[in-house]
Amino acid sequence: MSTKSRRESGKRRKGERARRCRRCGCTEKRACKGGCSWVLDTNVCDACLTTHERALQMLAALIRDDAFELRNRVEALNKRTDQSENLLRAMLNKGGRR
Ligand SMILES: [Zn+2]
Ligand SMILES: [Zn+2]
Repeated sequence: MSTKSRRESGKRRKGERARRCRRCGCTEKRACKGGCSWVLDTNVCDACLTTHERALQMLAALIRDDAFELRNRVEALNKRTDQSENLLRAMLNKGGRR
């Protein structure tokens, strides 16, 4: 007979959040098969993402990178002229709206 007396007996101190996927229930120590990682700040692991969500995640990452790049460029341009910053801002605002 096997003794399954060992339940989750991890020492969990306050301040150390035990993250757990709210879909499959995996944790840092017990990842999904093949491994998984957290999706940004959510409590969902990327193994549980639907194809749609995965696409969204990739898009979000791209947008983030883009925004980061743009901001850097704006800052670089800003050192030269204020006009270019305004122009870029206008462009960015347009992009955000519909
Ligand atoms: Zn999961
Ligand atoms: Zn997982």
